Amino acid sequence: MQEIKKAKHEPSRMCVSCRVRNKKTDLIRIVRVKDKCNPGGFFIKLDKSQKSEGRGAYLCYNLACLKKLKKMKSKSKSFVGKLSEDAYKDLEEIIGSFEG
Ligand SMILES: [Zn+2]
Repeated sequence: MQEIKKAKHEPSRMCVSCRVRNKKTDLIRIVRVKDKCNPGGFFIKLDKSQKSEGRGAYLCYNLACLKKLKKMKSKSKSFVGKLSEDAYKDLEEIIGSFEG
């Protein structure tokens, strides 16, 4: 019974923090990239183009969501629960520059 609409549909993604669905373009994409210098390791990249390969997660351009994410850090199964302090700082700066 599902209707397939051909009308332009904007892709939506869920914020890992508040779990609200948003337009992809309204979210910041975080990708986990394998670290070639450190086998088994990875680093986190903020994917502004939203086109990088790798496992991605999305977060609202919202400092509240970032804070919430930081709090649930240990509980999160996703890799975003393992972001480094540096990655959080980067996110804070990027989100901060979009807010207000
Ligand atoms: Zn959110």
